[in-house]
Amino acid sequence: MPIVKINNLVKRYPVPENPHTTFYAVDHISLDILDGEIFGILGPNGAGKTTTLEMIEGLTDIDEGEVTIANINVKTSPFEIKEIIGVQLQASEYFDKLSLRELLDLFCKLYQSPRQSETLLAKVNLSDKSNATPEQLSGGQKQRFSIACALVNDPKVLFLDEPTTGLDPQAKRNLWNLVKKLNASGMTIVITTHNMEEAEFLCQRIAIMDQGKIIALNSPSNLILKYAPEPPETALHGNLEDVFLHLTGNALRD
Ligand code: ADP
Repeated sequence: MPIVKINNLVKRYPVPENPHTTFYAVDHISLDILDGEIFGILGPNGAGKTTTLEMIEGLTDIDEGEVTIANINVKTSPFEIKEIIGVQLQASEYFDKLSLRELLDLFCKLYQSPRQSETLLAKVNLSDKSNATPEQLSGGQKQRFSIACALVNDPKVLFLDEPTTGLDPQAKRNLWNLVKKLNASGMTIVITTHNMEEAEFLCQRIAIMDQGKIIALNSPSNLILKYAPEPPETALHGNLEDVFLHLTGNALRD
């Protein structure tokens, strides 16, 4: 059953060299995201992924078309939408004097959420850092903390924008496990990534975007069958990352 319905979504921006004309950053996209799935949006830089996500989240105005989440219209009911979604942005700024616990307590109050900061920190494996400030965290810990912040309102749909960019393999796999765990509890997750292995591991379905359009939409295995059917020339198993993890272990270093 679809939880996010996107119908003919359009965003136009001025052409940088000729601001009197516009181009389609998002060019009439239609798409259903199913309740309970991990859905990936892939595409080269400038494809329109972030603009699409920001329109779905109600952070950027929709020029044309319609988005509903759990049958709530994003354009006409922006406040209701914010109660049922969680958004983890690529970079976040916090009040830098507050600890993780204090920040989460503050967000819980702002959302009038009954959730406890301790529960949220435990969920993302950061209980032992509750008195640290965000600037004292490693990259992987920062990403996990920003997910904890996005979970304050117990969202139906969680949006993750390139959550593992810049993380080492241990921190990345730890974050993948967290995403799987959240999804196993029933949360729908929409993720953008440039990491193909991540998309293949996490996503039930993937949309590939280019120049504002969806150019393919299917499960990872069906996409591979359709677009990369030839077997590799040598019978290699695994990949370099598996070698790295085999040699350096799976334990988190941060
Ligand atoms: P992606 O996330 O796939 O890298 P974006 O959605 O960020 O792509 O950008 C799509 C296109 O829209 C790009 O050409 C980008 O330069 C342009 N764009 C994005 N945001 C704005 C903006 N606020 N003003 C003008 N152009 C923008």
